[in-house]
Amino acid sequence: MRLLLVEDEKNMAQAIRELLRLEKYEVEWFADGEEGADQLCTGLFDIAVLDVMLPNKNGFEIARQARSCGIRTPILMLTARSEVEDRVSGLDCGADDYLTKPFAAQELLARLRALTRRSYDMDDGVLSFGDIRLDTKRMMLCCTKTGNEVRLSEKEYSALEYFMSNKDRVLTREQLFLKIWGYDSEVEDTNLEVYMSFVRKKLSFIGAKTTIKSVRGVGYELRFTE
Ligand code: CA
Repeated sequence: MRLLLVEDEKNMAQAIRELLRLEKYEVEWFADGEEGADQLCTGLFDIAVLDVMLPNKNGFEIARQARSCGIRTPILMLTARSEVEDRVSGLDCGADDYLTKPFAAQELLARLRALTRRSYDMDDGVLSFGDIRLDTKRMMLCCTKTGNEVRLSEKEYSALEYFMSNKDRVLTREQLFLKIWGYDSEVEDTNLEVYMSFVRKKLSFIGAKTTIKSVRGVGYELRFTE
């Protein structure tokens, strides 16, 4: 699970990172608000933890910006005890939950678990788009018209899950590459095209009219034509 942490207090950030790494979160940390907003808007993260007071852009502005570009990543806002009325603005701007500093480690973990559960439980772990449904628990792709099902490989699943949680957005080659192979990968860029063709084959195998279209010079998008 990829987590975005935007926190400018170094010690706090360090402590949160260590705690979350133990819990197997892949943590990317940024201290600057502007940078944090850009990162969240890539749609690459499964969950975000934002401090409120940050240089260049505050946590509320980051959340608002992300929601306005269609990012649905669950957001947990960290607020200081003196910022109680901020809780209201926090939820107003599109944050899903808030946690008052100082907090116990167990409380942070519990909130994060609840948020990630919520984002999938909405439709019982199933993402839908056009005539396809993706069962995120079994990694199965199904066509709602034909009823055909197919199992996906981990990378195919990762790509489709990314497309289906970012509906109607063109995803750039860089974004897809990072989502599928991660930051430290030595995989060649041409492999992306290969994987997109694997996913297209599975889509046509189940008889779906949803497919992945190339957007010249930019990347790919999921499209459904009846
Ligand atoms: Ca701060």
